[in-house]
Amino acid sequence: MDPVALKALSEIVGDEYCSTRKDVLLTYSASASTSHESRVPSAVVRPANTHEVSEVIRAANRHGIPVTPRCGGSSLQGEVIPVADGLVVDLLRLNEIEDFPDLRAVRVGAGVTFGRLDKYLKGRGAWVPVYPGSSLTATLAGNVAVNGSGFGSSRFGCIAEMVQGLEVVLPDGTVIQTGSEANPNAPGPFLRYAFGPDLTGLFIGSLGAFGIITSVSLKTFKRMEHLDYNTYGFSTPEQAEKFILELKENEVSTVWAAIYEGRILEFFLEMVGEEYGVPQYEWPPYTVSLAIGRVRENQIGSDIRAAEEIAQEVGGHVIGIRELPKGEWDDRMLELARSSYVHGWHWRILYHHATPSQWHRTVETMWPLMDEYGVLGHTAGFQSDHASYNFYPQIYYDPQDPADEAKARAAHKEFSKRLFESGAVPFKLAPYWKDGISGMDTYFSILREIKRAIDPNNIMHPGVIPLLEEGGG
Ligand SMILES: Cc1cc2nc3c(=O)[nH]c(=O)nc-3n(C[C@H](O)[C@H](O)[C@H](O)COP(=O)(O)OP(=O)(O)OC[C@H]3O[C@@H](n4cnc5c(N)ncnc54)[C@H](O)[C@@H]3O)c2cc1C
Repeated sequence: MDPVALKALSEIVGDEYCSTRKDVLLTYSASASTSHESRVPSAVVRPANTHEVSEVIRAANRHGIPVTPRCGGSSLQGEVIPVADGLVVDLLRLNEIEDFPDLRAVRVGAGVTFGRLDKYLKGRGAWVPVYPGSSLTATLAGNVAVNGSGFGSSRFGCIAEMVQGLEVVLPDGTVIQTGSEANPNAPGPFLRYAFGPDLTGLFIGSLGAFGIITSVSLKTFKRMEHLDYNTYGFSTPEQAEKFILELKENEVSTVWAAIYEGRILEFFLEMVGEEYGVPQYEWPPYTVSLAIGRVRENQIGSDIRAAEEIAQEVGGHVIGIRELPKGEWDDRMLELARSSYVHGWHWRILYHHATPSQWHRTVETMWPLMDEYGVLGHTAGFQSDHASYNFYPQIYYDPQDPADEAKARAAHKEFSKRLFESGAVPFKLAPYWKDGISGMDTYFSILREIKRAIDPNNIMHPGVIPLLEEGGG
């Protein structure tokens, strides 16, 4: 990096928080997934507050340096990998938590992880009820930037549904606040849709291409202390799908609802079954793993009865093995991490949403594709909010075998195309969607116009969303 630019950055954050050391840069060159090529940045800064972030961005603009924001670094689709020779802005030092119990809200700095926030809110019997399987390292800001979801989303929706406002440093260094807190006299975060069009939404799922989120204001809810777990068996996918839909229609408070196809369940139990204490069982073709949560004890009994009745009405039955959903729920901050470690992270993932009533279409797209490309994989997911189902299909490869990895990459690209054609909707625009999405030219040209208007020098994480680049959609 140009020594003048480096000096300017170092003066903003202090020498201690600006590094060009090779070992440090190497750490910032990759993310949690090994299936994306790493790129070494030319410097890393660790600002202490919003003012320093803003000054860093102004300096980057003056010197034409591309910037990649980074929080927990736990994303899996290569989206936090920096631009070669660019600047990484590590936001973990922005770690304040400001509580607003009367507003049922909390405001967290970009460096606050889900794990830390959960521990904090537990103290006042509250929670932000969305737990990605990476909660111990993932930050709220990073999850907002990818619009993620997780355990709890079956009832409460994606992280976007929790957001009341954001503080963002725009690509020119300007700081804006969205939501009710845009009024400097407001008592805090209590309304997201304030002052006309929803500016907050521009940054949700933006992968850092529109600015740096420096703080996130979120809804808090009273912690559900009363939980019930059960499994339900079905012989057809349609029955399992109808079960999920009817649970929502009848407002059964399902904090976790996941459909497992028999072969996927076996695969999953091979990894965690013993640890969760799941007994041996002749599982049906389709199993639903369900956790119901309620704040008050007297509310849960009727939900349990409703779930049993609905299962029978749609042609299924209660299995009665509680260890599976209980293990998944109790393990909600780590669950995917465990299964990932078993496979050494050598897989490519393809997060997307479909509808619960079309669950079978993702499954039916996945299996023939694996046969066609000769790759191994699986798909799993969970009910997430009003009428969507969050899928995370994975394709595995042998990292010692370049031909196998190439096959996995090709299958992954083709998979995104077939999924899009089947009606799937990505919640973040990771690079491979460029090959998958078609017929949305107008949509992406508008998004590109907005990007050009707020980031004329294209310094904010260029390339992270290929559909935002010229000729990309
Ligand atoms: C074991 C495991 C399980 C996982 N399970 C889930 C899951 O259940 N649900 C889920 O949604 N995800 C899951 N993930 C993926 C990942 O953990 C989440 O996407 C996570 O929220 C990313 O947060 P982060 O702080 O690590 O962000 P990072 O990886 O640091 O960044 C993610 C993206 O956001 C951008 N970014 C980061 N910080 C900011 C900021 N302050 N302002 C603007 N842009 C920013 C980055 O440039 C990058 O594009 C899992 C990952 C692992 C390793």
